[in-house]
Amino acid sequence: MLICPRCGSNKVESRGGCFFFVAGFCLMGISIWLLIIPPVGIAGIILGLALMVVSPFAKNQLQCMDCKKTWKYQKEKEKAGA
Ligand SMILES: [Zn+2]
Repeated sequence: MLICPRCGSNKVESRGGCFFFVAGFCLMGISIWLLIIPPVGIAGIILGLALMVVSPFAKNQLQCMDCKKTWKYQKEKEKAGA
């Protein structure tokens, strides 16, 4: 069971990487229209692409439904050897 490190609530939801992917995709869609103002459109597309690229790495993002804290889920590291 996952527990919030701040308030101890167990109402914890994982925010999948698809959240970032969709956000990046939307940003790119908007930015294509903003290409009429090239610096803005290009900046938006780059930002959208960056979001889509980082989305697979944002998989372990967790959020507490009670206090809205977000943090990264750390896998229990098995202490090998020693
Ligand atoms: Zn909390």
